[in-house]
Amino acid sequence: MRYLTPPDLEGALNFHAVILGSGIGGLFCALNLPRDMKVAVVSTAVPKDTNSGLAQGGIAICQGPDDLESHVEDTLRAGCGHNDPEAVRTMVMESPQVAEDLIRLGVNFDRRPDGSLKLTREGGHSRNRILHAKDSTGAEIVRALFAEAQRRDNIHFIMETFAVDVITDLDGNAAGVSLLGPGPSAILAPHVVVATGGIGRLYESTTNMRYSSGDGIAMAMRAGADLMDMEFVQFHPTALHSPSSSRSFLISEAVRGEGGILRNPKGEPFMEGEHPLKDLAPRDVVARAVVRQMALHSSPCVYLDVTHLDGGFLKSRFPGIYARCLEEGIDITSQWIPVRPVAHYLMGGVLTDLWGRTSVPGLYACGEAARTGVHGANRLASNSLLEALVFAKRIARRIPEEPADRGPVRVPREDRSPCGEDLQGVMDRIRRIMTRHAFVIRTRRGLQEALDQVEGILRHLEGLELRSTEAFEAFNMAQVARAVLSAALSRPGSLGSHWIEG
Ligand SMILES: Cc1cc2nc3c(=O)[nH]c(=O)nc-3n(C[C@H](O)[C@H](O)[C@H](O)COP(=O)(O)OP(=O)(O)OC[C@H]3O[C@@H](n4cnc5c(N)ncnc54)[C@H](O)[C@@H]3O)c2cc1C
Repeated sequence: MRYLTPPDLEGALNFHAVILGSGIGGLFCALNLPRDMKVAVVSTAVPKDTNSGLAQGGIAICQGPDDLESHVEDTLRAGCGHNDPEAVRTMVMESPQVAEDLIRLGVNFDRRPDGSLKLTREGGHSRNRILHAKDSTGAEIVRALFAEAQRRDNIHFIMETFAVDVITDLDGNAAGVSLLGPGPSAILAPHVVVATGGIGRLYESTTNMRYSSGDGIAMAMRAGADLMDMEFVQFHPTALHSPSSSRSFLISEAVRGEGGILRNPKGEPFMEGEHPLKDLAPRDVVARAVVRQMALHSSPCVYLDVTHLDGGFLKSRFPGIYARCLEEGIDITSQWIPVRPVAHYLMGGVLTDLWGRTSVPGLYACGEAARTGVHGANRLASNSLLEALVFAKRIARRIPEEPADRGPVRVPREDRSPCGEDLQGVMDRIRRIMTRHAFVIRTRRGLQEALDQVEGILRHLEGLELRSTEAFEAFNMAQVARAVLSAALSRPGSLGSHWIEG
């Protein structure tokens, strides 16, 4: 199916570039485009309510020439060598520059009394190189970027609007985007940037915001873009176990970075024999160890213990985590925190080159929706904000040099039956299938069963007239789920976050 619904081009607005998403990737791309370009930023969520705004731990920044090889090595090791080494090197080398950009744009990172930047360490990093703003780093970056973007005359925000499809011209070039919202029905622009984030909502439990149904990835796919590494979904090992919450609250890796210890329900630390970095091992290793402990003890969670750390330090270093746990009746200074793995981050996505270009001319992708190759089979903590910023800026530098002439667009006519489907039920079903068969530990049989079921859902939805955001999301989720499952089945064995047993 080419379009979810035929684009309505009457009343379309014209821009030089349209960016889908107002997270860190979308905002930084907009800010780096030349000021004489008219740029539209389309988004369902306001910037502070994005996954970017939720980032707690921080942003990994290479600490000078003697840290270059080490940051590259740590990234490759976490990614199991499945990374694109050139993309990794590019990201690490350009990291000091984006940190400078952020500070210039008004981001207040934590500093020591002498004014130098405070650095912390997270899982998989062999030295301290994480810049942070308490435990609300993402919110602080988004605040500064959005404030600056609002001051720019050339950047126009089209909020509370759902991007439905990337429009292509008859030669297959990106030519705009169709929309569902209170404003225009479409935007025509020769440069379309997908910065719509990840796919956490494909699972029953996730740290991600509600919108994370992989819309941009599905849109790019329908426009003809290649995807890659879709089997590599990162499950964060330490989300707060709170059966009452719809979105899982993350207990940042930085808590283990500061000395937190994982314990099983009997109180035994269990990361000792699992990996030389113990509690700070890469996330896939920790997630599998946690899932095995949960199974061994028939427990819905394990525990993160920080009670041996100074209470005053915990409250000032992790004020958000301290307050949120207290809401759940847990005082982290004296009680263990119940935690378990949940869907967190997609390493794969829309395949791009080093300039964020996809296989469709005029279509770019950055941030979590993109597969730049930096993360390989498993993302190193705090590298995703960095990846989003570095490649968003590269796209913005590249766009002015790319062809901008577009041919005519043909809108197909399609005959589909009215949709009387329980779409919420369809989405819940996809989430159940993915959680059961494509979670931390997978089996080939389970993946095949899941793929058969998802293909059945897609065949059914394809014949229906889809008109609401719910219908579009359900279809996108099914398409992206199929991509994850097919990629997982195509990989011969386990690698990084994709782990097959049986
Ligand atoms: C709880 C949490 C903590 C994290 N902590 C860290 C950390 O410490 N360090 C780190 O490096 N990374 C961290 N990450 C990961 C990181 O925050 C994200 O990968 C990154 O911010 C993604 O940025 P983005 O710009 O690609 O997408 P997002 O920030 O997810 O923004 C996506 C945007 O796309 C919009 N959108 C989506 N679909 C549509 C549609 N159909 N139409 C219109 N708009 C749409 C959304 O409204 C939103 O504006 C964390 C993630 C989470 C969830």
